[in-house]
Amino acid sequence: MPTTDHYDVIIIGTGAGGGTLAHTLAAAGKRILLLERGDFLPRETENWDPQPVFVDGRYISPETWFDADGTPFQPQVHYFVGGATKLYGAALYRLRPQDFGEITHVDGISPAWPLSYDDFEPWYSKAEWLYQVHGSHGADPTGGPWSKQYPWPAVSHEPRIQEISDTLAAAGYNPFPAPCGILLDEADRARSSCIRCTWCDGYPCLVHAKSDAETIAVRPLLTAPNVTLLVQAEVVKLDTDPTGRTVSSVVVSRRGAIERYEADIVVVSAGAANSAKLLLQSANEHHPNGLANGSDQVGRNYMFHNSKAVVALAKEPNDTVFQKTLGINDFYFDSGDHGFPFPLGNIQMVGKSNGWAMKGEEPKLTLLAPHWSLDDIARHAVDFWLTTEDLPDPDNRVTIDGQGSVHLRYTSNNDTEATRLYHELKKLLNHVGMAQHHVLDKNFYMQMNIPLAGCAHQAGTCRFGDDPATSVLDVNCKAHELDNLYVVDTSFFPSIGAVNPALTAMANAIRVGEHLIERLG
Ligand SMILES: Cc1cc2nc3c(=O)[nH]c(=O)nc-3n(C[C@H](O)[C@H](O)[C@H](O)COP(=O)(O)OP(=O)(O)OC[C@H]3O[C@@H](n4cnc5c(N)ncnc54)[C@H](O)[C@@H]3O)c2cc1C
Repeated sequence: MPTTDHYDVIIIGTGAGGGTLAHTLAAAGKRILLLERGDFLPRETENWDPQPVFVDGRYISPETWFDADGTPFQPQVHYFVGGATKLYGAALYRLRPQDFGEITHVDGISPAWPLSYDDFEPWYSKAEWLYQVHGSHGADPTGGPWSKQYPWPAVSHEPRIQEISDTLAAAGYNPFPAPCGILLDEADRARSSCIRCTWCDGYPCLVHAKSDAETIAVRPLLTAPNVTLLVQAEVVKLDTDPTGRTVSSVVVSRRGAIERYEADIVVVSAGAANSAKLLLQSANEHHPNGLANGSDQVGRNYMFHNSKAVVALAKEPNDTVFQKTLGINDFYFDSGDHGFPFPLGNIQMVGKSNGWAMKGEEPKLTLLAPHWSLDDIARHAVDFWLTTEDLPDPDNRVTIDGQGSVHLRYTSNNDTEATRLYHELKKLLNHVGMAQHHVLDKNFYMQMNIPLAGCAHQAGTCRFGDDPATSVLDVNCKAHELDNLYVVDTSFFPSIGAVNPALTAMANAIRVGEHLIERLG
């Protein structure tokens, strides 16, 4: 069994958290080993083909997880260099300042973070500049203060989306340009990698023009002398020294062999479910309930947003190519109803529907429909994504069985808020004329609740906090119970807010990276 070069830092996982952390540390010359269970996502024509992407699930791991009843399901997880960001929509939102404090929801409390928005703000700016985000700070009335404007102007609306935006503004809403991480220069298209196509949200980018963690953070390190990346390297266990206070070696299954690696600092960034899994399966005599789990908090408080994808159909065609340019936060804190004084959430656009994607996303609805009719329907579709915050519930949790398989127990909450947000969207659509120009006799919205397998926004399984009895990590994302173990991915979220999580994971990775540089000297 070969070991072991000694590194300054081992990072497990190369997604939004791990990839960004590696980028931060590498610049300071630290000797880094990146361990990634997946491989590079191949650049192939299938990247931009909805049949393999949405129907065949070509880029989804064949892994099986189990729900609370023991029923198996295939989680929509993506094991590649870059992690879930290879498939993400690159909507790179900051949390609102209030999200860092306590917020009362219909089903309970969204707890405060140990840091405030103002504490986090400098790292949000750094993450926006690293990930080349387009946007316009100040346009969203619920957004917090910023120290630096976005590096790029907001991506322009195409005519149909501009029309919707103008009409909503005239009706008193506050639509704003959605923040988006793509390598697009609209002033000089010749300098753009991005061709502004429709294959963005949910697709890998064939031309590497999406600001994902591989393209932005990991790929630039491949020639760095101080960084080693091992792919197809699944970390299966973390061993501790005889005191139980230090991770002494990282056990890796790679191409059929077991290998061990050592580092001064070990960072787990395997995604919220897999980070919890790794800690739980690293139980030993000092940590009988799992590594860093004396509090019994590892794996608990799993959140993934109470989300819906909604397709609104209008009589007039929607020929938009790049649709994710509009957001609406009018209901983020305000339900618009004094009898219901709770927040509802965020409304944004998603990638443009096409017939094949509809077939993949909603097979029961479309099973009997011939393909041509789906395409025709899709041409008239305007696509929205609704996000309501789900609350951290200790019973919503990741556990593992004797075989090391993930079991995910989850009961949804804040459903009333989610339903109200959907009704607010319907009212809003009436303003943009979809009541008069629908394809059916009445407004026709295909509504899809995101089931358990849709774990794209998973978070919360190793929350950070000041109290070791109620949190796994301290404020620097170091495990309370170990001296050299950190968790730097969406696991650390004590609450998830109602906007997409990746930018917060990236900003936090830069924050922790700067802490580690200081610690390592
Ligand atoms: C289709 C889709 C669309 C999305 N759209 C958006 C969006 O528009 N905006 C947004 O903010 N967020 C979006 N997200 C969510 C966003 O991608 C995630 O929040 C973010 O990537 C989470 O970062 P992470 O570091 O926690 O995990 P990941 O990015 O998933 O990284 C985890 C990494 O760890 C690796 N790994 C796992 N286990 C092991 C192991 N045992 N050993 C070694 N490596 C391991 C994985 O292969 C992976 O590379 C989307 C996600 C999906 C799937």
